[in-house]
Amino acid sequence: MNVVAEPSFRESVDLMFNRAAALMDLSPGLEQKIRVCNATYTVRFGVRLRGKIETFVGYRAVHSEHMEPVKGGIRYAPNVHQDEVEALAALMTYKCALVETPFGGSKGGLCIDPRQYDEHELEQITRRFAYELIKRDLIHPSQNVPAPDMGTGEREMAWIADQYARMNTTDINARACVTGKPLHGGGISGRVEATGRGVQYALREFFRHPEDVAKAGLSGTLDGKRIIVQGLGNVGYHAALFLSQEDGARITTVIERDGAIVDPEGVDIPALRDWIAKHGGVRDCPFGTYVEDGAALLEAECDILIPAALEGVINLTNAARIQAPLIIEAANGPITAGADEILRRKGAVVIPDLYANAGGVTVSYFEWVKNLSHIRFGRMQRRSEEAHYQLLVDELERLSADKGLGWELSPDFKRKYMQGASELDLVRSGLDDTMRTAYQSMREVWHSREEVSDLRVAAYMVAIERVARSYRSKGL
Ligand code: GLU
Repeated sequence: MNVVAEPSFRESVDLMFNRAAALMDLSPGLEQKIRVCNATYTVRFGVRLRGKIETFVGYRAVHSEHMEPVKGGIRYAPNVHQDEVEALAALMTYKCALVETPFGGSKGGLCIDPRQYDEHELEQITRRFAYELIKRDLIHPSQNVPAPDMGTGEREMAWIADQYARMNTTDINARACVTGKPLHGGGISGRVEATGRGVQYALREFFRHPEDVAKAGLSGTLDGKRIIVQGLGNVGYHAALFLSQEDGARITTVIERDGAIVDPEGVDIPALRDWIAKHGGVRDCPFGTYVEDGAALLEAECDILIPAALEGVINLTNAARIQAPLIIEAANGPITAGADEILRRKGAVVIPDLYANAGGVTVSYFEWVKNLSHIRFGRMQRRSEEAHYQLLVDELERLSADKGLGWELSPDFKRKYMQGASELDLVRSGLDDTMRTAYQSMREVWHSREEVSDLRVAAYMVAIERVARSYRSKGL
């Protein structure tokens, strides 16, 4: 039980903000303006279910409108509350600024345990919640664009998009009112995997800098690294899958709601995911050793710890015992401000949430642009790709003739090259580029000033400076 009083999630985000702001040259007025949450809308609505009226409570917080639309997911969880959505909305502001997606920050939530309802009921509830938000422009292609978060996914986004289209029959940009939609409903390839993929790209970029890797007391590459993952939901699953299948890392422990599975040789991630889908948990799972007290394994020995579930799981009660030298925050806010300080003192390196899980909103941005442009990605580029292809072929053939080399390009290469990149290739390379660039901008600040002790404070400094610049240039 958590007996130590800690600040709330929103206060914790503010404390992290303050640590960065103290190292910057902002006027106190502007600092305050950036920190506060602009507005939070609370709605209580009734839905008739199983012959009875049930009342639901939902929120949409708008943290900063320095850029519009504002952006951020909608979470379905029983304990959603105002403080939480405001913290998450603030993180969206900083996250979008850090990865340069042109959005302000927002977040929504509905107090509901989705597992207690069938699909038809969830559709009724979602449409009603969306109706309340659409009426107030809290879902709108140019003002506020939600996305999936914990407890929601493509299905909910499709209902929301349809609800908006019904209420705005003449809006040609209706599809851009929400992202994370199914591929055949205006979505984009690679959005479901995007946050986990972003975690992988973030780690790959980190391991490209031996100096940074050494700060965590590690060396080498991701190959053979022992990883503990908490939460095998959408984010944790994809991160674990890609890191184990493509980078040679070993997922030695998976922590879930009802316990953990340990296998020093590496847990079979797809098999475990199937097991959880069938049995609702990891208990009795045959792919490793089952440990009932899963949370205790956050403290186990490993090279990399990936909290990919809830906020506040690493807090004052366990921070001192965490052994991982490198922690990457796939979830939003898994480390409290107090725990963060303890980890810093211990010398652990934390790759912070606003960077680590920004893959989702990055690919959401690609989806939103695709929806607004009303054209398939790559279609307009075909002519110029052909022209480039011709240039390359001509040059190679000229060189070959000049030097008497007798080179010929294989028909297979020509065919593949002419096909150009698929939408998934474009999305992945755009995401990779985004994650590399953002890391380098944090890293530059981290290494350039002695007072900048860690990546989190550096990330906040980069983000806050960009938000401040936007306010300075356009006014409040
Ligand atoms: N809910 C995700 C996040 O926390 C995605 C937000 C979005 O795509 O707008 O970043």
